[in-house]
Amino acid sequence: MEFSDRVTSVEPSATLAVSNLASELEADGVDVVDLSVGEPDFATPGNVVEAGKDAMDAGHTGYAPSNGVPELRDAVAEKLQGDGLDYEADNVIVTPGAKQALYETFQTVVDDGDEVVLLDPAWVSYEAMAKLAGGELSRVDLAPHDFQLEPALDDLAETVSDDTELLVVNSPSNPTGAVYSRAAMEGVRDLAVDHDVTVISDEIYQHINYGKEHVSLAGLDGMFERTVTVNGFSKAYSMTGWRLGYLAAPEELVSQAGKVHSHSVSSAANFVQRAGVEALQNTDDAVDEMVDAFASRRDLLVDRFEEYGKDVSVPDGAFYLMLPVADDDQTWCQDALKDAHVATVPGSAFGAPGYARLSYAASTERLEEAVDRLAAEGYL
Ligand code: PLP
Repeated sequence: MEFSDRVTSVEPSATLAVSNLASELEADGVDVVDLSVGEPDFATPGNVVEAGKDAMDAGHTGYAPSNGVPELRDAVAEKLQGDGLDYEADNVIVTPGAKQALYETFQTVVDDGDEVVLLDPAWVSYEAMAKLAGGELSRVDLAPHDFQLEPALDDLAETVSDDTELLVVNSPSNPTGAVYSRAAMEGVRDLAVDHDVTVISDEIYQHINYGKEHVSLAGLDGMFERTVTVNGFSKAYSMTGWRLGYLAAPEELVSQAGKVHSHSVSSAANFVQRAGVEALQNTDDAVDEMVDAFASRRDLLVDRFEEYGKDVSVPDGAFYLMLPVADDDQTWCQDALKDAHVATVPGSAFGAPGYARLSYAASTERLEEAVDRLAAEGYL
């Protein structure tokens, strides 16, 4: 069988590869502390689950309007307006997960050979999505700048040019947990406007923020018309399996991306969208509780690593931490899994060799256990 160049140029997700290996060990009876997955370890808030059940009982089990049910498009627009962004319901496409919103954006904006700029370390799927759309990657490395964007703006300015089609910004960041400053975002704005670049602002970790200002690019002067704001329900509301996200963009982009959407997934599940309205409108307390828990786990990990002389960049958001490990991070992660039974993801999967990404979406007991095991086996 012949396979397309686009598909063969892409690697399977490194994150999933590690968790598969961890699952194999677990199937053999090994107790693995799995810090590889990007999934909150909380249940979906009960009122959201009830809203989903009620929607099924009410018969919302058929096809939904392709771009989303009006109730959810309205609720998303209202949420975005609350963030100071000028979006209306017509600017919104509701998607099965933020991942699909991103995929549709790449398909809509990127032509063969177009330049896509990523800020490394970057979430694994951006590279794959760019390649699947035929894009060519350029990368700006934030690792020498403590994973911050502001000190790397000169490097970004050297990379972005009139040939750049798309720039992807993800704050709070997966995998680093960095939250980019207003000055950094204004720097992005200046470059995007000067070089007429479309920008994806992936804000899926917006609510998992430990106190730094969250800046939405679409709210900066000159950015509304060139920004695709992506967000979703997986992380903030612990709804990974529901598959619900959205993009918000100028209507001309929505009408183009809507074609990719309707010809691929048709719509996000109807009753899931109804539960999404409840999540947006009635979960503030549950979100606060989760964020408090993540903050204390972050502190615990940072303190414990410091005990072993590991100086980590303290994350300001999301639930990931980059641990400096050996130069060969892939071998380190494999060995740490085999010897200490702690699953982590090699930084090189994100364009950051020399690090392992740890997800602290795990109980404090399991996090303590992970540090103890890594220390006992000589990995710290
Ligand atoms: N963007 C980033 C940075 C992520 O880390 C993830 C999930 O890991 C997604 C988007 C996609 O989330 P979902 O498709 O579950 O909404």
